[in-house]
Amino acid sequence: MCYAIPGRVAGISGNKATIDYFGEKKTALLLDRNAKLETGNYVYAQGGVIVDVISEAEAKKTLALWEKRFFALKEKDDSLVATGTQNPKLSALFAKVRAGKPLGKDELNWLLSLRGQDADALRSFANSLRREELKNSCCVHGIIEFSNHCGMNCLYCGIRATRNMERYRMTEKELVAAAANAAKLGFRALVLQSGEDKFYSGETLVRAVQKIRRMGVLIFLSIGERDLKLYQALYDAGARAALVRFETSNPASYSRWRPGRKLEDRLRLIRELQKIGYLVSTGFLIGLPGEGEGELAENILLTRGLGTDMYSFGPYIPRNGEKEKPDLDRCLNAISVVRLVDRKAKILVTTAMETLSPEAKRLGLMAGGNSLMIDVTPEKYSRLYELYQGKYKPAKEEIAKTLALLNEIGRAPTDLGL
Ligand code: SAM
Ligand code: SF4
Repeated sequence: MCYAIPGRVAGISGNKATIDYFGEKKTALLLDRNAKLETGNYVYAQGGVIVDVISEAEAKKTLALWEKRFFALKEKDDSLVATGTQNPKLSALFAKVRAGKPLGKDELNWLLSLRGQDADALRSFANSLRREELKNSCCVHGIIEFSNHCGMNCLYCGIRATRNMERYRMTEKELVAAAANAAKLGFRALVLQSGEDKFYSGETLVRAVQKIRRMGVLIFLSIGERDLKLYQALYDAGARAALVRFETSNPASYSRWRPGRKLEDRLRLIRELQKIGYLVSTGFLIGLPGEGEGELAENILLTRGLGTDMYSFGPYIPRNGEKEKPDLDRCLNAISVVRLVDRKAKILVTTAMETLSPEAKRLGLMAGGNSLMIDVTPEKYSRLYELYQGKYKPAKEEIAKTLALLNEIGRAPTDLGL
């Protein structure tokens, strides 16, 4: 896979460093405050965090392989950016965004409803903003789903507690081995995800995080609502990012879909994780049955207001045709609208979107998205982590397809920066 390029440290100021990728500069945080890092060192950074320092010889070997391709990818990306619209209302909104003025809720709702040529123009405009703000950088994260046991009963979720299904828990050894395999494949950011599973003791999780951290990867936790002491211990062990969606900005709907839980507690957790120092990725489900008019725009605005580090949102995928899936256009428009309201946003094109169309990754990246996720859970377990039907995709094929796509649309594995 090897979808990460090392960069050269061009300068250090406080806990931040400037990283140079073939002349393109990005800022990244030092993962450990006391890390011995000097100008001229070569590093890997992910999600705006330096995760590994490597030898000059190793870096130069990799950079030599990338140099020509890096500039070819840039050219390709540039060639695919096109803007313009015949629609005066759309044109006026684009001008408003360019002038740095905020868009109102009604304007967001209108943009989200666009279809056909207008939707194409919206996505092209968002893609041009992505290129201006983040260049052609693209992160590819790996996800390891280490347990499908869950004490919660979220009605949208295929592994909720009351479902009668085959359950698994990876042992600490299996989890560390799966991470080592992903690191060997070239992943530099790994999401460790599970149901809310209290089976694992703090010591087990801390040990696993410490071992995985030594592999030179950015560790994202996606383990639900757990004790803050545990989150602090995992941060101290080397985890630096957390994926915690708030699912819906409507408090009543939140408690209906997540019985026994309150939106305010979820939002408090997000804020506490930010205080600990975690980079937080959050977002919502699109098209939950009963989603109110304007709720999608409100979800976008709430995510932005939280000031987190990455957007993660995607369609609610119902099980067994129980309801119609949300349409892909709405999800793609959501990516574009996020780009318009938060130009520098890091926007993940989520795996759930791919169940709506085999073209979803490409369309999402061309609508303003800039990150992808590939499931690298060992196959025997991944098949059982059935949040929704059609989720399982063999990792090897996905990696090959993703690399081909990124090559085709000119995206490079330089870090997105802060
Ligand atoms: N248990 C943790 C939590 O809830 O935060 C992490 C794992 S949970 C499976 C991760 C995410 O899966 C949730 O935040 C939810 O948005 C998403 N999810 C669950 N069921 C889904 C469905 N049917 N369609 C799309 N996404 C779903
Ligand atoms: Fe459990 Fe998370 Fe699924 Fe809710 S969404 S049932 S907490 S795994």
